[in-house]
Amino acid sequence: MREAGKIVAEALHEMEQAIKPGITTAMLDKIAEKLIRSYNAEPAFLGYHNFPASICASVNNEVVHGIPGLRRLQEGDIISIDVGVLLKGYNGDAAATFAVGEISPQARKLIDVTRTSLQRAIGAMQTGNKLSDISHAVQSYVESNSLSIVRNYVGHGIGEEMHEEPQVPNFGLPGRGPSLQAGLVLAIEPMVNIGSWEVKVLDDQWTVVTADGSLSAHFEHTVALGDNGPEVLTSSSLV
Ligand code: MG
Repeated sequence: MREAGKIVAEALHEMEQAIKPGITTAMLDKIAEKLIRSYNAEPAFLGYHNFPASICASVNNEVVHGIPGLRRLQEGDIISIDVGVLLKGYNGDAAATFAVGEISPQARKLIDVTRTSLQRAIGAMQTGNKLSDISHAVQSYVESNSLSIVRNYVGHGIGEEMHEEPQVPNFGLPGRGPSLQAGLVLAIEPMVNIGSWEVKVLDDQWTVVTADGSLSAHFEHTVALGDNGPEVLTSSSLV
């Protein structure tokens, strides 16, 4: 899973380097697919429940599961990219939200708070803590910054399957659910909106957007709990 995670991290880094006004989300998808296949790995999202691409690309008010296409990124956009890799039977899954050129202070704050909420969640993934301590770490930090946390989509266990038990909500009271033990691997993925937390799915049956049209950001890491605490598997020296 470490090896799969490093490829995920490198794919995100390569796409980040390519993000600029004028590039299409389909071009970013091709960059990721080429990188993943260069390691003899497979893009885990491609074909998953018939999803047609290797990445999810979600721009501005899109929350998650955006389908790459001919949309050209514009100065001031924010784009969340989610990518999964299957290598030697094991999965890695991560997402990050990037700025396209100069963005508004509100968009910058949204990105920074969402990234930090993921770091807080990872910090709560400690042996002896309860699963919902992770959830509570995200919600309390996001709401203390006057932003809202999406309820309808959650993080997940990950391993031989992309999505395994347990579900990892980004909201809830602390001290609930199973105790965390070494060996557990989770994909933790806060989705944060500027406006209300409510979302809806577009007619393409994939793209999730904010119900009120406000901006949304998303960060995700695959994190293993070891004897010495949490280890982020989807980071590299590059990201
Ligand atoms: Mg995920």
